[in-house]
Amino acid sequence: SLELSGVSLAYGSFEVVREVGFTVEPGTTTCVIGPSGSGKSTLLRGINRLHEPKSGEVLLAGEPASAMAPERLRQRIGLVFQHFNLFPDHTALDNVALAPWKVKGLPRGQARERAARALADVGLAERAGHRPRDLSGGQQQRVAIARALAMEPEVMLFDEATSALDPELVKGVLTLMAGLGERGMTMVVVTHEMGFARRAADQVVFMDEGEVVEKGTPDEIFGNPRSPRLRRFLAEVL
Ligand code: ATP
Ligand code: MG
Repeated sequence: SLELSGVSLAYGSFEVVREVGFTVEPGTTTCVIGPSGSGKSTLLRGINRLHEPKSGEVLLAGEPASAMAPERLRQRIGLVFQHFNLFPDHTALDNVALAPWKVKGLPRGQARERAARALADVGLAERAGHRPRDLSGGQQQRVAIARALAMEPEVMLFDEATSALDPELVKGVLTLMAGLGERGMTMVVVTHEMGFARRAADQVVFMDEGEVVEKGTPDEIFGNPRSPRLRRFLAEVL
């Protein structure tokens, strides 16, 4: 599980995430929704300590994230961004094999085998030898997801993983993400795709101005929103 309690994050003295708490049970998907600037990306970066929380606690399988080496924490919690930052001169296979080899220290052959499996998992077995420029945006994002999966993380974080994609490519990547959830991956998904949140989330967390305003099941959040701020947000995006 991933448990957040009282997590606050700031840029200098400007606090952008305030006292956020929620629990992601093993094998479940939590979608985080909210307006632009509400602190969603900052929160994800706080979970794996790309941005050090100012206060509060993140527990991964009961262990405080603050007590782990950041490198180790980032092996256990994978993060997929909007912009996938693949190495342009490496094939898809090498992009995925690099971290298991260099960071995890697997022998190169094993790292490549694991990478091949991860690419197969995201439906790209046939594209393993292609370089990023010879792949569509959606395929590049799949490679980035495979790269995170190849580290065998306990939790996956997604930050607007589909918002840089052409509209016709979005569905395939969302289907892949939903499939990961169905196969038991523990996930936190920041998304503007309300349809995905409705279908794939076990829990939806609504953030506004750095705070969790409301959290609940998709039925509660979309079917029976209580706070005026959530109602206003849903009226704008749905
Ligand atoms: P979006 O939906 O647009 O991605 P978000 O919910 O992910 O928004 P964040 O990117 O976490 O929001 O930003 C939260 C707040 O922190 C915003 O007010 C933003 O302007 C501010 N912020 C983000 N990055 C920095 C930074 N590097 N320095 C200072 N302030 C920042
Ligand atoms: Mg963001």
